[in-house]
Amino acid sequence: MALAALVPGALLGWVVYEAVGAGAGSGGADRTAAPASASGTSAVPSPSADSASPSAPDDGKRPSGGSASGPLRGKVVVIDPGHNPGNFQHTAEIDRKVDIGTNWKECDTTGTSTNDGYTEARFTLDVAHRLRTLLEKQGATVKLTHDGDSPAWGPCVDERARIGNAAHADAAISIHADGSAQGNRGFHVILPGSVHSGAADTRRIVGPSRDLGTRIAGNFLRDTDEPPSNYLGDGTGLVTRTDLGGLNLSTVPKVFIECGNMRDSKDAALLTSGAWRQKAAQGISEGIVSFLHGS
Ligand SMILES: [Zn+2]
Repeated sequence: MALAALVPGALLGWVVYEAVGAGAGSGGADRTAAPASASGTSAVPSPSADSASPSAPDDGKRPSGGSASGPLRGKVVVIDPGHNPGNFQHTAEIDRKVDIGTNWKECDTTGTSTNDGYTEARFTLDVAHRLRTLLEKQGATVKLTHDGDSPAWGPCVDERARIGNAAHADAAISIHADGSAQGNRGFHVILPGSVHSGAADTRRIVGPSRDLGTRIAGNFLRDTDEPPSNYLGDGTGLVTRTDLGGLNLSTVPKVFIECGNMRDSKDAALLTSGAWRQKAAQGISEGIVSFLHGS
C-alpha cells in the first residue's frame, strides 16, 4: 500500500479506491453488509501532534486516573472489546437471544481466532487496554464494557450498547478482528446504517458515526500499513450494517473496527504482534481524538 502511505490526509475513499481498485472480490463469509460508497467526501484530518509514544508499554492495569488536563478533558469514550475470553465457558448464556430492535440475536459469540489459537477475545482486550492508556493520556474519561474476567462472560450486545448510552459517551468503539477465508485480508470499519424499529433508532447517530469511522479508518490505515479490506467495502475500508445490536441500539456515535482477518496468514502475523497492536491502538486513538476535536 505504498500509494496510500504516501498520501495521509487525503480523501480516504478516493485514495483507497485508487490504490486497491474496484476489482476486489467479495468473499465475506458471514457478512451481509451493504458496500459503502467509494466516493467518500470526508477528509481525513491530521492526527494530533502530541500523541503518546508508540512504544508505551501496556501492562493491562488501569492507570490511577485520567489526567486532569489534556485536550480530551471532559470527554467520555467507551471502548467495547469484542467478545470475552470467558465466553468459551459460557456458551449457554451467550447463545440466548436478545432484542436488538430490528430482530432477536444471540447475546454474544465466542469470536474467532488465528489458526494457531490466538483468540479474537484476547486480541480485542489487549488493543482495548492499549487504547485506554492512550486516550487517558489525552485526558479522556474511558470506560470499558468489560475487562476480561469482569464480568465472566459477555456482556450481551444490547448491554454493550446501553453501557455507552448510559455513560453519555462522546464516542464509542467496538474492537474486533474478522474470521474470513485465507487470502481475504485488510481492515474495515463498520458504520451504523439507519434503522428505526423497536428499541433501535440510529437516525441521529448515522452522520456523526460516519465522521468518527472515516477518521478512524484514515488514521488506522496510516499508522498500521494494514490495507483496507479486499473482500468487503469495495476498497474503502468502510462498511455499513444494520444487523448489529451493538450499533442498532446505540444512541451515541459508535463504530466497530475489524482490525484484520485472523484466518489470513499475513494478517495473523500482524494481529499476533504486540508492536503492531500498539500501532493499531494508536491509529484508533488518533481517529477518536480527531473526531472529538472536530478538526
Ligand atoms: Zn468479533
